[in-house]
Amino acid sequence: MTDYHQQADWTTVNDHQSPIDIDTANTVVINQYLPFTMNNKHHLKLDRDDGTTIQVTGTGHASIFNRPFHFVQLHFHWTSEHLIDGETTPLEIHMVYQSSIGQLCVVSLMVKHGPADETLQEIIDNFKPDEDIR
Ligand SMILES: [Zn+2]
Repeated sequence: MTDYHQQADWTTVNDHQSPIDIDTANTVVINQYLPFTMNNKHHLKLDRDDGTTIQVTGTGHASIFNRPFHFVQLHFHWTSEHLIDGETTPLEIHMVYQSSIGQLCVVSLMVKHGPADETLQEIIDNFKPDEDIR
């Protein structure tokens, strides 16, 4: 089992299975936004905060690559679970969605130090468990 307290000891880092080390020298860059649309407000509820992971469950719908998915949960990893050119980022956000036939889609956001993103900061500042957000 992956021990998030011993991340330096992970031996499964590769380019096929999570956790993935993205080698940017051998990556195809697509200069388009991910075709992802949140189709309604998401109702979120704080589910877990165990010191390594904060998980939020809830309801909501999104269109991902023009396919309908329902929201399952989102959670945060610090430091990041995945790597870019062998380096972690301070924070990684995983938004987990599932289709009606059980396909999972995890949208991962690698967050670096820098000026606060106004939208993300507003969500954090105003988050109250068990409220709707969009
Ligand atoms: Zn995760």
